[in-house]
Amino acid sequence: MTPATPTGGLSRTQLRCVLCGTTRAPDLGAACHACGGTLAAEVDGPVLPQGRASFYDYASALPVGDVRVSLGEGRTPLLPLDRMFPEGGVYVKAEWMNASGSFKDRGAAVAVSAAVALGAKGVVCASTGNNAASVSGYAARAGLPCIVALAKGTPPGKLVHSKANGAIVVEVDGTFSDAFKMAETIAAEHSDWVNLTSTYLSPYMTAAHATIMWELQAELGEVGSVVIPIGAGPMLDGIVAGAEVLMAQGRIDRMPVPVGVQGAGCAPIARAFDAGADTVEEWGDPVTGMPGSINDPLRGYAADGTRTLARIRGADGHAVAVTDDEIRSAMLDLGKLEGIAAEPAAIAALAAYRKLADKLPKPAVLILSGHILKDVPSQAAGAVDSIVVSPDLSTDEIIARALDAFKG
Ligand SMILES: [Zn+2]
Repeated sequence: MTPATPTGGLSRTQLRCVLCGTTRAPDLGAACHACGGTLAAEVDGPVLPQGRASFYDYASALPVGDVRVSLGEGRTPLLPLDRMFPEGGVYVKAEWMNASGSFKDRGAAVAVSAAVALGAKGVVCASTGNNAASVSGYAARAGLPCIVALAKGTPPGKLVHSKANGAIVVEVDGTFSDAFKMAETIAAEHSDWVNLTSTYLSPYMTAAHATIMWELQAELGEVGSVVIPIGAGPMLDGIVAGAEVLMAQGRIDRMPVPVGVQGAGCAPIARAFDAGADTVEEWGDPVTGMPGSINDPLRGYAADGTRTLARIRGADGHAVAVTDDEIRSAMLDLGKLEGIAAEPAAIAALAAYRKLADKLPKPAVLILSGHILKDVPSQAAGAVDSIVVSPDLSTDEIIARALDAFKG
């Protein structure tokens, strides 16, 4: 996987600062050299395939070069929720079907591919969740070492996936913020290491989420609205950017309405949206609630939230917070009526759709971002009670009780 050219074939990509507009050729850096703002990776002359396509069929529109690291990501199923919404037009995008069980694989595929093409010697991320599981897998696939930095005392269960992927786990004797800073410093002091901590630190990762929008357009044509669980929000940013490419090419006639969904126990972007603010403040209150994968207080990088808020406002979208009760209720209904389970952060999209349905044009797509087994303890908090029986209870009685529970 040696780069074929000095820019690894990324000659049509440029990085643009979202704050001051400064552009530069692609590299492994995470921020604008002029103002410190986050970056967008823009591809000149993207050519999108016609009809349904596999992930790297979109390579001409992605910031990747000749190197394409893959674990079979993308092209996830689009499932109608016709039992739950008999009038039709409501779908889920099954992002849990990606290789590591979450949408993060799209970003990791593109970011690790770009990293290899640009000559990276290693990958670091500060995360214990979906992102670390994904990044460590793609790094291993590409033959790059991967450091996962996290706070000492992180529950071992959160590390299983990364460790299985051969990641080097570094426990920092401090808080998650200390781990976050360590990842940042490693990449800052070693320019051939790339920091793929989630958030907007990798413009390649952010841009990859456009593929979700392109896949939706290929199946649905026009897309009315897209409901997206957000922490800092790079998935939402990438989806809206993908819609802009479709608009520019005349593939769609209207921008879909983006909805950013947060848990009520940590909702800095939804709070700013409700307040009519233009900037997002970090969440100073205690972080609580079920949707662990999106509970991001944005401490130290509130500007990431502001970038997402601007994206939402620019596309006449919404940001909304949902409660644990709303998530739990949506989870039970989705499982029972549709046979679909996902982690609480993903289910938050359904809870949000139920609140905003009358404002959202169809077809509406809920991005179910991660697998239910990603977040078992939270899920258990909302589980249905089992039926407890004695071993000699008659089968007639067991079936009668099961049918009672089914109807309930
Ligand atoms: Zn700048």
